[in-house]
Amino acid sequence: MKLRLFTFHFSLFVFIAMTAQTVSSPDGNLKVNLSVNAEGTPVYNVTFGGTTVIEDSPLGMATTVGDFTKGLTFKEQTEPKTVTDKYTLANGKQANYEFTAVEQTFTYNRGNNIALDVTFHVDNNNIAFRYKVYKQRDRLATMVGNEVTAFTMPEGTKTYLCPQMTPQGGFARTTPSYETFYEYGAEMGKNGQGRGYTFPALFETPNNLWVMLCETGVDGSYCASRLECKGRTYTVTYPEDTEFGGVGTSAPGIMLPGYTPWRTITVGKTLAPMAETTIMWDVVAPRFEASQQYKYGRSVWSWIIRMDASCNYDEQKEYIDFAAQLGWEYILIDALWDTNIGYDRMAELVAYARTKGIGVFLWYNSNGYWNDAPQGPRGKLHTMIERRKEMAWLKKVGVKGLKIDFVGSDKQQTMQLYEDIFADANDYGLMIIFHGCTLPRGWERMYPNFVACEAVRASENLSFSQNDNNIEALAATIHPVLRNAVGNMDFGGSALNKFYSKNNQRGNHRVTTDVYALATAILFQTPVQNFALAPNNLTDAPAWAIDFMKAVPTTWRDIRFIDGYPGRYIIMARQATDGKWYLAGVNATKEPLKVTLPLTMFPIGTDVTVYIDNAKTTQRVNKKQTLAVTIPSNGGVVVND
Ligand code: CA
Repeated sequence: MKLRLFTFHFSLFVFIAMTAQTVSSPDGNLKVNLSVNAEGTPVYNVTFGGTTVIEDSPLGMATTVGDFTKGLTFKEQTEPKTVTDKYTLANGKQANYEFTAVEQTFTYNRGNNIALDVTFHVDNNNIAFRYKVYKQRDRLATMVGNEVTAFTMPEGTKTYLCPQMTPQGGFARTTPSYETFYEYGAEMGKNGQGRGYTFPALFETPNNLWVMLCETGVDGSYCASRLECKGRTYTVTYPEDTEFGGVGTSAPGIMLPGYTPWRTITVGKTLAPMAETTIMWDVVAPRFEASQQYKYGRSVWSWIIRMDASCNYDEQKEYIDFAAQLGWEYILIDALWDTNIGYDRMAELVAYARTKGIGVFLWYNSNGYWNDAPQGPRGKLHTMIERRKEMAWLKKVGVKGLKIDFVGSDKQQTMQLYEDIFADANDYGLMIIFHGCTLPRGWERMYPNFVACEAVRASENLSFSQNDNNIEALAATIHPVLRNAVGNMDFGGSALNKFYSKNNQRGNHRVTTDVYALATAILFQTPVQNFALAPNNLTDAPAWAIDFMKAVPTTWRDIRFIDGYPGRYIIMARQATDGKWYLAGVNATKEPLKVTLPLTMFPIGTDVTVYIDNAKTTQRVNKKQTLAVTIPSNGGVVVND
């Protein structure tokens, strides 16, 4: 009898150990391999074409209903299921989305209780995974303590990371806001500026494979996370206690059964799978229906060149006329309009803009209790009653959208505020741009009135600092394959002024060429672009540059990464909603860059317009559909049909 029992257990053990715990992509190239280590912690690794890109790394979370980071046993797994889906987005980096992925769920017990599921969603270049925490006895909700979810990178991996900022620091206690410089090709082992790194994170393994980490589906039911680094291991870490004025918990609370956001891993031999990834939207669902069809377009924005002083009735009227001269759709009126223009005259200004066919976005300070930024309007958005009162007025006078600044926290309480603002704004037909804020995590699909987040060291720093200008082109080589690859980015760039000032003769100056400005108008993507053009550019910038910007699109059908290396150069192509292709590149190196551009998106024998070396030329597409060009240092190239 005893012997038989032993045999039974032994065979069960062999059965479990030999059960293939591998999730394979549809093409079999990308694999997640699972096991449980001696401490009872679920462990996974990732291989791509047989090469390890993430080494054994822990899974699990500690909660107030149980520590699900160790002492777990594997219970069961579902059969691999192939899932396909199609959807469209009007506000994203492409129009039509379609994926085929394999989904599989692994269940772990703690003692006799079901503790945790880990569900993997694996397509040919992307992995998304999340936890489901089960009800424990009569407990229907839990606080989460921490996760051990980690990503251990192979020895010798190089990193491209954005260090997390100090909470309640920066201007008027408005950080963290994802506004530090990227480190290009840095070694592992550092922990940023002491508090880790923001998503998304990019790595280059010793085998020259690229790996991007991010998360998606973050809303009011969880906090947003960052990565803390120890050695070669990057661990999912929750916000700091001091964020958001210290109000709200750093760790989230969830209902049971409940889910974490999806954490994502994108892998490729080139940067194309990063630039072209759709994983951020594939695994999330719309949280509400759009109250109307939102319209996107190009926007003038006086603040970037003329700063606070320009926020007065006359200059905003001048900019409305400027927008009309360009044939653009919007004006963004920045901080201090509530005092410098006032609510009544703003209503007049919005009405005037309407006569010119220009829609208005208005700036707001997000503030309730979490920053000292003095710019108004303040205190209008952080409570539902005030917010809906304000939004009713905005709708009445015909405002189209808001730019909301200085949010500065990743806590669950802050995520709830973001979500509440989206939901209320949609009721009043308002689009939303956030500045001084978190990274959007799936929001293009989750919130149909979402336009963009800043969450990047953006154009304001070109106005503030000459150093940012001196290295401006560096950032353009990484954003399209990293920050902007996972979400719409309100950069506010493409200045054609030589200097960041009203008279265009003093202040910090651009070192980039005018074609660079055109190229970044294509490389940087958001459906409402707040470009940095100024009325004086109608006479002091090249006519071909103004003509290009008059016609530049902001909504896209398709995207194609062509070539690039972060910190050196990038070349991408985007197809506009109307079907026209735009090929754009910039060179951040000190030397001119010789490249052969593929023109396969343009038929042989057609004439294309080529902007390079600060000139516009026409070229006929040859039989090879290639074009050899030399991009100047700090310069760009644009080709369109
Ligand atoms: Ca900012």
